[in-house]
Amino acid sequence: MATAATALGINARGQEASRLQPVSFMGRNYARASAYARSAGLSFKWTSPELATLTGPGVSILLDHDSRKIRINNIWVWLSAPVWLRDREAFIPLLDISKTVEPILSQRRSRQALRTICLDPGHGGEDTGKRDGNRNEKQYTLLLARDVGRLLGRAGFRVTYTRTSDRPVELSDRPLIAQRHKADLFLSLHYNGADVSSAFGAEVYCMTPAGTSSTNAGGEGADSPAYPGNRMDERNILLAYELQKLMVARLGRTDRGVRRARFAVLRDATMPAALIEAGFMSNPQEARWIYSSKDRALLAQAIVDAVRNFKKAISL
Ligand SMILES: [Zn+2]
Repeated sequence: MATAATALGINARGQEASRLQPVSFMGRNYARASAYARSAGLSFKWTSPELATLTGPGVSILLDHDSRKIRINNIWVWLSAPVWLRDREAFIPLLDISKTVEPILSQRRSRQALRTICLDPGHGGEDTGKRDGNRNEKQYTLLLARDVGRLLGRAGFRVTYTRTSDRPVELSDRPLIAQRHKADLFLSLHYNGADVSSAFGAEVYCMTPAGTSSTNAGGEGADSPAYPGNRMDERNILLAYELQKLMVARLGRTDRGVRRARFAVLRDATMPAALIEAGFMSNPQEARWIYSSKDRALLAQAIVDAVRNFKKAISL
């Protein structure tokens, strides 16, 4: 069946990208952005001495000098290493072409069903999560999970949970529960918090590819091996991207980017998995948004629609 992706010639990209000539810099392999653009049917252009773009029908990628973030169709995505702009050439880490850019632009489709979704409300029991006065993150993640679950059920999905009440669940048990429930997708739901009230915005995490460093606060190093969660690298990044896209584009949340972490709940997930940090309880304005049941229902609907978009992109 013809798809937007084939119309763009994207299906040929994977093979072309693997033939890109690597350029070694600081111990990493990079690809010339102009060469990648050519192989992918995109046009490469400088928009300022420090900014370059790759564009094509329905695709716009912004590369920023020495930045570890690129913008793909208006959503920020963190890379394994900074983009490198030198002597009128732009370079992208080769690994990020295959692990980040390509899977967001086009996916290998399969007949495998995506029917059962495991929702993981963060924290529980004595683990309160972030706190704001007498409000605890664990209450709001559970309320959000119930809203998301109800809407997923209405959309025809089978829904399971790692917890449905205020009880503790070990982090390492959560992906195992998903596996036991034969889940095809795992979503961990969280709210953020910071020492300063000025931090705000939404971010979504997925598993860090093997051999690269994470972009969470801890940011563990690049010497990490592959985990079971890495088997789903291609699917994970698209799932995280679709979630972030709707939180930003539909709900107007500030875009803190699609990020990478080897969180325990992601490391051992054997199905596509992502962790949502929808907003900061430590920011008074976002806190009001988090505690509003009306806004929570809109967030739940955006999450469900992102899952449906993900399903559409990967299914035959
Ligand atoms: Zn949390």
